[in-house]
Amino acid sequence: MQFKTLYGPVRSGRLGLSLGVDLLGKRICSLDCIYCEVGPTRVHTLERRAYMPARTILEELRSWNSQGLPRPEFITLGGLGEPCLNVEMEEIIAGSRTIFPEIPIAVLTNSTLLHDPAVRRELGATQVVLPSLDTLVPSEFVKINKPCSGVILDNITSGLLEFRERYAGRIFLEILLTRGINDSEENLARLREFIPRLKPDRVDVVTMTRPGASPLAEAVDEQTLTAWRTALRGATKEEGSQQPASSQSQGLAQGIAQGLATDAQRDLVLNSLRRRPQTIDQVREALSLDSAQTRALFADLAAQGAIQHARELGEDFFQVAP
Ligand code: SF4
Repeated sequence: MQFKTLYGPVRSGRLGLSLGVDLLGKRICSLDCIYCEVGPTRVHTLERRAYMPARTILEELRSWNSQGLPRPEFITLGGLGEPCLNVEMEEIIAGSRTIFPEIPIAVLTNSTLLHDPAVRRELGATQVVLPSLDTLVPSEFVKINKPCSGVILDNITSGLLEFRERYAGRIFLEILLTRGINDSEENLARLREFIPRLKPDRVDVVTMTRPGASPLAEAVDEQTLTAWRTALRGATKEEGSQQPASSQSQGLAQGIAQGLATDAQRDLVLNSLRRRPQTIDQVREALSLDSAQTRALFADLAAQGAIQHARELGEDFFQVAP
């Protein structure tokens, strides 16, 4: 079966080996962040709809299971936009738990729908929520996240606080810094005041490592990242960082590398590149392939015109050809 809603597995520092699920199918989001790795938002909305039907997603998860493909450490709901916009999210979460009862579910969210009690209740059935909150300064919010009409920064903060009140799972807050936009003293001071009220389980301060949707988005330097991480340290239960993958996930990934036929590896690589541009090393590391094998696969895909590359931030990033 060709998977159109599942991608990866990809390795992440926060979740280990994670199987991504795209709940949108297209660039549909309530924000249009200048650093977005999947390009500009096409449908800019707060309206919840069944953008990708639950039955399609659950059919693919059942197929993944019945094909005996290796089990990831997390099933992560996200994709080409904001997953909470999918009005069938509750059914998707419940169905995933039935198909993979032992695998926890994580959700990547931009926090814009957390003021909606229905969304907070639906997310209550997951184990980890990873909300992003790049700035608490309204003028910076407009510049970096470009919200659609109806998105209000105060609703985001109150929604986050209300969600924390009742959520039994873990919250990993992400703050992405871009140079000259949200790396201000004012933003840092506001976040230092807000984060202890939110009590996230960890805070990850990151910057861009891949090309964003807009040339205005530039990464901050290492010194700024360190200063922010130090300033926000202590506001959480866990130390936020970009840890290397655990040995458990490496074992799983080796299973993938050894257990999949070349065609399946090719599909996994293409699926992964369809979601975001990546370097050869990022893909190699995520799938634990050996270096020569990955380079040969990329050379093949490029020769067939299936992928193309662009040089950004001093590195070659590959993505699926349009
Ligand atoms: S980075 Fe996330 S929240 Fe921002 S536009 Fe892209 S998908 Fe939407």
